[in-house]
Amino acid sequence: MTTHYTRFWGVRGSYPAPYLTHMAFGGNTPCVEMRLGDTLIIFDAGTGIIALGNELMKQQAIRNMHIVLTHYHWDHISGLPFFVPAFVPGWTINIYGPAENPEELAYRISMQMKAPYFPVAVETWLADIRYHTPGASPFTIGEAKLQSFAVHHPGTTYGYRLEHGARTLVYAPDNELSFIRQSIDDRKAEFDDEEKELLEQMKEEERRKSIAFMRDVDVLIHDAQYTQDDYQRKRGWGHSCYTDTVTSAVEVGVRNLFLFSHDPNYDDDTLSELEQDARRMVIEAESQMHCACAREHTYIDLASDNVEAMPTF
Ligand SMILES: [Zn+2]
Repeated sequence: MTTHYTRFWGVRGSYPAPYLTHMAFGGNTPCVEMRLGDTLIIFDAGTGIIALGNELMKQQAIRNMHIVLTHYHWDHISGLPFFVPAFVPGWTINIYGPAENPEELAYRISMQMKAPYFPVAVETWLADIRYHTPGASPFTIGEAKLQSFAVHHPGTTYGYRLEHGARTLVYAPDNELSFIRQSIDDRKAEFDDEEKELLEQMKEEERRKSIAFMRDVDVLIHDAQYTQDDYQRKRGWGHSCYTDTVTSAVEVGVRNLFLFSHDPNYDDDTLSELEQDARRMVIEAESQMHCACAREHTYIDLASDNVEAMPTF
């Protein structure tokens, strides 16, 4: 096993989907592990982080880790109260996320563990917990360089671009790529021709800006929660239709796209169909991009020249 890899521990959006019909892709909410030698970075703390915590306890190899949060919707933090390493003295857990200052971040994390919602408060965490709020400034974890960027999702939500050596990875689990386009289209009737043309230009500019963060990356893990039918009903909710994700990724030269934040209502058959259609789009666009729906427990080998999803053990 390479020492440089990414592993999916949770790939569902919104809420866990622990159904037999969903197990090929997995039922846990977002958590993605990045192992860069001795550096351990964990993107988001959905229910997937619980099994990762148990694995880390078993390994006892790395006791210093970095949890990087995109935002505080439950599906991204609800695994933290059950993350065993936080309760163990001698371990160090750095937590990063959007907030004005570290105190505010600590407060946000503590809220979900207060009575009467949870029986055990953060004060029982015996690990050394350190809070960081780099905001829009670049920051480093080990040899990795990270940079947040704002995405279209309710509240302040970040995506992250990570560079390590020659490799780049972007993690943006919740992001509505067509948000601006939809909100302008909804009001089109109010505008005259000249205004419409101006708005078309604005739309294009905004779209380009919003996909700039994913240009030429080796690995893109991105929101693709809805089919086209469902997206029509759920515009403005802060999630992407997978066709927008595929089209945008092809356009900016992504090498490996992992469709992420699967809708909990989609069973394995639905996701397989969605994946096949996404691959058909890539072929039609005459792109070489590797494209797959993220599956729980699969690895991406970051040391390989040809980054591909590796099967689970
Ligand atoms: Zn969210």
